[in-house]
Amino acid sequence: MAAKPTPMMEQYFTLKREAEGALLFYRMGDFFELFFDDAVVAAGILDIALTSRGEHDGKPVPMCGVPVHSAESYLARLIRAGQRVAIAEQVETPEEAKQRAKREGTPSSKTLVARDIVRFVTAGTLTEEALLDPRRANVLVALAPLRDSVGIAVCDISTGRMELEECAPDAIGAVLARSGASEVVVPEDWDTPPHEAIGRPRADFRSEDGEARLKSLHGLATLDGLGAFTRPMLAAAAGLIAYLDYAGRGKMPLLLPPVAVSGSERLAMDAATRASLEVLEAQGGGRAGSLLASVDRCSTGAGARQLAEDLAAPLARRDAIEARQSAVAHFHRDPLLRADVRALLRGCPDLSRALGRIAAGRGSPRDLGQIRDGLGEAVRLVTLLNSGKDIPALLGQAIWQLGGHGALTDHLARALVPTPPTERNQGGFIAPGYDAALDSLRETSGNARKAIAALEAKYREETETSSLKIKHNKVLGYFIEVPARHADRLMAADSGFTHRQTMAGAVRFNSLGLHEEATRIAEAGAHAVAAEEAHFEELVSELLERREAIAATASALARIDVSAALAERAAEGDWCRPEMVEESCFAVTGGRHPVVEAALAKQGERFVANDCTLEQTDRLWLIGGPNMGGKSTFLRQNALILLLAQTGSFVPASSARIGIADRLFSRVGASDNLARGRSTFMVEMVETAAILSQASEHSFIILDEVGRGTSTYDGMALAWAVVEAVHENLRCRCLFATHYHELARLAESCDALSLHHVRAKEWKGELVLLHELARGAADRSYGLAVARLAGLPPMVLKRAKTIIDRLEKGRAETGGLAAGLGDLPLFAATSTQVQEPGDALREGLLELDVDALSPREALEILYRLKQEC
Ligand code: ADP
Repeated sequence: MAAKPTPMMEQYFTLKREAEGALLFYRMGDFFELFFDDAVVAAGILDIALTSRGEHDGKPVPMCGVPVHSAESYLARLIRAGQRVAIAEQVETPEEAKQRAKREGTPSSKTLVARDIVRFVTAGTLTEEALLDPRRANVLVALAPLRDSVGIAVCDISTGRMELEECAPDAIGAVLARSGASEVVVPEDWDTPPHEAIGRPRADFRSEDGEARLKSLHGLATLDGLGAFTRPMLAAAAGLIAYLDYAGRGKMPLLLPPVAVSGSERLAMDAATRASLEVLEAQGGGRAGSLLASVDRCSTGAGARQLAEDLAAPLARRDAIEARQSAVAHFHRDPLLRADVRALLRGCPDLSRALGRIAAGRGSPRDLGQIRDGLGEAVRLVTLLNSGKDIPALLGQAIWQLGGHGALTDHLARALVPTPPTERNQGGFIAPGYDAALDSLRETSGNARKAIAALEAKYREETETSSLKIKHNKVLGYFIEVPARHADRLMAADSGFTHRQTMAGAVRFNSLGLHEEATRIAEAGAHAVAAEEAHFEELVSELLERREAIAATASALARIDVSAALAERAAEGDWCRPEMVEESCFAVTGGRHPVVEAALAKQGERFVANDCTLEQTDRLWLIGGPNMGGKSTFLRQNALILLLAQTGSFVPASSARIGIADRLFSRVGASDNLARGRSTFMVEMVETAAILSQASEHSFIILDEVGRGTSTYDGMALAWAVVEAVHENLRCRCLFATHYHELARLAESCDALSLHHVRAKEWKGELVLLHELARGAADRSYGLAVARLAGLPPMVLKRAKTIIDRLEKGRAETGGLAAGLGDLPLFAATSTQVQEPGDALREGLLELDVDALSPREALEILYRLKQEC
């Protein structure tokens, strides 16, 4: 028969059920303990000892623990490993538990200290400084599918920013990729939730509740003043707020009024595009090597987070882009102002994160100090910025948001010591002179301390023991200590000393006088701490009344930082301000790839700048040339220039005139990513299909060796068909890199397509890659020369050369791989042609409504068509 669980185990099981699958941190004294499977999982992740405690069902109970004072670093590791943690604290003292037992008439030996889950720590709901990366936003997203649309609520509770948006179900991937969510919550009954989303009760996602909660949070009678929010948006807001309620156990973190975001105001990029352009993270993961890392010159963490957000969601409206450009240009023109502003910002604390912690009820005196200092720096910044000439509108607006906190900063300045501690409950943060009562309590303990020092001198004299000392520790409080050999003098019954403890070489005593002074210190100390605590609460509530204004100052600081940082980057790299236009053109001279250029510069090598001029009549560039010749780099540099331009940044080029794009697509042929597994060709085709169904005339596409992940014939045919479709149907700007020479023949039928190649030459039998783009088709592939460069053995090279000669001879005789394609009617142009009877393939194609296809459907059709061929 299984033994009855102990009361502690019973309490543990109840809490564990409430934790709903999260690891349970069970507070026991100075430790958080984990039991059973939780202990096994945590010990594995944290690499700490797994022990056991007692038995359950006849088996030892696995256990591990972490000290409370260093719990944060362990939490950080668990969260990073994808875990959620429920914190169960003791919610009464052992004395309170005893009294409760007495009241309830239960034996006190059986009464446990009551424990409760006070909070869930999850990836998206962190506010602790130690758990957050200062240069990265921490984003929680809630999705609410409603009819044929999905509401999206995005928030960063460490700063309070909240955005609401709506999108079509197939755009969720792109929206999630843009937001960089660390945690996603969805209704649990949703049958197609995104990967790794957390299911929550459907009842949490009611749009009426969302509306009501937002109104009450922000004290509004209507949300109309904030923007136009749709039902799906409000349903998502409801889900998000309900999750915050759940995670914080009813304690709401900082949430600023939501902003309605419209997809059409942003440059759309899907997850594949972001990954292949390495916008925020390099392919191998991590920030190093990404676009973000190569442009980030921000002085503050808040600036770096804003820049990442900007790069993740570039703009698509000209006025908004130009407003940012003007702010960057302002600092670009004036290097002195820029240097001063950046130096000032470097000393500026992270206002929004400090505010986030305070609002979540986890603030410390140090956070109050940071708000005081940050707001103070903001005022100095106003003076500095106002000294510049012709202040652009965006900066003017930011300057306006920096000030207005005079009363609060004055108050904080008077109330707080210069560097307040992170510990809140030990006092010592309220400045002298702020509160007369507190000062006198401190004087009392100060006097008592002096009195204790005087006692020490007195006792030394009386006992003639110069080595007598009055000491203090946590267990005993104040005590008198003498070396054991002198103890006799104090042991005498009439000495006035009472014995407390005998140590190896010393003996400890108490005395009435010391006891009195120690009590004075303790009492005054306790009163002082209580007084400081009250002041803390008061300062916090005054500060929170201004939370929105403080958050606005924080975001103004971030915007100024980003503008000055982009100006710095532009000056450093000799970048130019692009001219933004509405028509679909792209004219870049002397363009460079910021990441590759920096990498080459480190090795003392020079990057070769290249032009790219696309326009309606010449909108599709087919780029050939040898491997390693610089095709990918050229494609990407132009996509990055477009992305940077729409972010409001200057661009790495000598001049640029850029037509604003609605969508940016980047695809890389499968074989470049072979490591990803066998289905890479499938992935490549799904992604290509997505472009064909989503791109518009205003989009910008780069396709790098698409079609390479399959056999030569299939690959070439697919590449051919894709180029035709882009040229004829999408009619948008496109750079297409390929090593299929045969595609050059498309130039004959596609009038807005032109041929280009990266130049190379053979010099004394060696291949020299010039990385220079030139007009015209590539004359040969240089594959063997590249192979030689890579160190393939001469025997193999020789054999390959023989095979090539044979093949080329065959090609000359038969017309080669693309023989017979010369008179192939254009893919899309066939609609104007007379149909051959029985041409099922063509008929099938003509019937297709490409716009209405999902990527997967498009792929299915491609497979079917192929089979029919
Ligand atoms: P491809 O796509 O043609 O195989 P890549 O674009 O991958 O070639 O370039 C190969 C290497 O050549 C890059 O890693 C870089 O070091 C160098 N490279 C590319 N473009 C340039 C350039 N414009 N100037 C200097 N070096 C370049």
